[in-house]
Amino acid sequence: MRIATITHWAYGITVVLTALSGVSFILSSNSALQERAAAEEHLTLDTLAEDLALGAEMRSDEARLYVMRGEVRHLQAFRVQEAAERRLETVASDLAARDPAPAEAAALRAINAHADELDKLEAAAITAYQNGDKTTAQEALFGAEHERVQNALLQTVTHFRDLTAARTTAALDAARDRSNWWSLVAKVMLATTGALFVAVLYFVLSRRVATPLRHMTGIVSRLAKQDYSVEVPVNRRADEIGEMSDAIEGFRTNLIEREKLDAERRADQHMKDLILQMMHRVQACRDQLELTDVVVRFAPQIFPDLAGGLYVLNEGKTALARVGLWLDPDHSAAEFPATACWGLRRGRTHHSGGSGADVPCQHVDPPGVATLCVPLTAQGDMIGLLYLEERVDGALEPAGPRLYLELIAENVGLAIANLQLQAKLTALAVSDPLTGLFNRRFLDETLRRHARDHRDEPLACLMIDIDHFKRFNDQFGHDAGDLVMQFVGQSLREACASSGDAFRFGGEEFTALLPSFGEADAMVLADMLRDKIGGVALSYAGQRLGAVSVSVGVAVSPAGGSVETLVTRADAALLEAKAGGRNRTIAASNIRKSA
Ligand code: GH3
Ligand code: MG
Ligand code: MG
Repeated sequence: MRIATITHWAYGITVVLTALSGVSFILSSNSALQERAAAEEHLTLDTLAEDLALGAEMRSDEARLYVMRGEVRHLQAFRVQEAAERRLETVASDLAARDPAPAEAAALRAINAHADELDKLEAAAITAYQNGDKTTAQEALFGAEHERVQNALLQTVTHFRDLTAARTTAALDAARDRSNWWSLVAKVMLATTGALFVAVLYFVLSRRVATPLRHMTGIVSRLAKQDYSVEVPVNRRADEIGEMSDAIEGFRTNLIEREKLDAERRADQHMKDLILQMMHRVQACRDQLELTDVVVRFAPQIFPDLAGGLYVLNEGKTALARVGLWLDPDHSAAEFPATACWGLRRGRTHHSGGSGADVPCQHVDPPGVATLCVPLTAQGDMIGLLYLEERVDGALEPAGPRLYLELIAENVGLAIANLQLQAKLTALAVSDPLTGLFNRRFLDETLRRHARDHRDEPLACLMIDIDHFKRFNDQFGHDAGDLVMQFVGQSLREACASSGDAFRFGGEEFTALLPSFGEADAMVLADMLRDKIGGVALSYAGQRLGAVSVSVGVAVSPAGGSVETLVTRADAALLEAKAGGRNRTIAASNIRKSA
């Protein structure tokens, strides 16, 4: 029951009880009034009877004194008493007529009759006295008849007083009893009202309000401390406390929901922060190796439930090779043809397995597992693939991670494309287009780098010039000359492959830089090169070009030595070789000796 209903009922009952106790008080008071009226009536009747008896006695006395002494004042007093007696008798007659009680009315009438009889006796005595018959008058007033009538009057008065006393005492007692009864009823009702009030107050305040409120306060305090495990009692009470309990439960549910949303938002924000950090680092990568390292480090932090790999397409765009992996993916080959991936074929994210609805990629083994292939593209070109597989069931299902993966794939694809483009441009900038060797600019750069970073290492330099090259141009055409140039360049690259770098110095002149090489080793390598070139018979457009030979000048910079004059010294040695008859190797140190 609602507290408001309880209090309304209690209020109604209290009002009714209060009204009833008020009525009881009024009834009690009425009974008291009746008691007083009975007492007053008793007093009136008693006084009347006494006055009648006393008046009769005083009148008799005055009549007797008059007859004895003959004084007129006694006669006058007798008359006054007589008049008073008449009035009292009239009152008594009226009372008898109202018939307070039959016995009392009869007594009143008897009193009046005795008084009248006495009156007549005394009047006759006075008349006899006034007529001079003093003896008759005295006999009448002092005789036995007068005494009898007088005694009868007094007895009747006494009887009447007894009767009225008995009746009024009974009425008085009844009125007092009623008054006491109603007074008791009123007190009981007042006590009941008070008890009811206290009981309702205790029940409502203590049992129905204070105890549940204390409980609720504890629950709200725990909720305020973010202790959402607190149990809000399932309240079946249809009262305000029940409503409060329901409201707190609603509040708790909302808090839990909000906490869940907050946690999701924090996790999402953390993921976004990690993606942003990853993007910043991806943008700053100088080569694909660095970029792969960044992806491999960040991907498992961003998606701990997804294993995966980064694949890059080969130059021909026909095959993919895995360049990095994280969290040990099991189900995709390390290398596979581009056509084996539906993601690459369609140019959009492909979800294999999972719900089993879509066709599985052929590079996935077994075909049923849930995997996601996000193609890496840049300006419409396929670059590679971001491959992911579930470590936890359902990790690929939510759409959120997919959006982030596509965002990452877009950025990584663009970054790889930029790095590939940058690598191409760099290669173009440092290489000679005809021979594929490094160009003169890169030679200067390499020498500067050695001087800066590897000063402590020795460095050998070969300057190579094709002998009588002009002849090939003149005799077989420029293209044939180019062919000779490419052949010498290729031979030099192969000779230096594991020992150093080969450069086209300019025209038909080449340079080789051989770190850690001493002069003797450099001379050996130069002679090997010459032998190799001389041992091949070139032909162009069906024509034999004849033997190709080169002259080589060798110079060495010892550990800690300067490389600034290295090329000049090697060039001087080359000139010496030319001057010495060509197709030979001369060391710069030999020039000084001979000089
Ligand atoms: P030597 O034995 O004294 O070095 O004689 P040479 O004929 O090799 O030397 P020379 O300096 O007289 O001639 C070099 C020629 O190389 C001149 C130039 O036309 C030719 N040449 C330079 N660059 C190229 C090129 O890129 N392609 C072709 N086909 N010829 C080139
Ligand atoms: Mg030459
Ligand atoms: Mg030359």
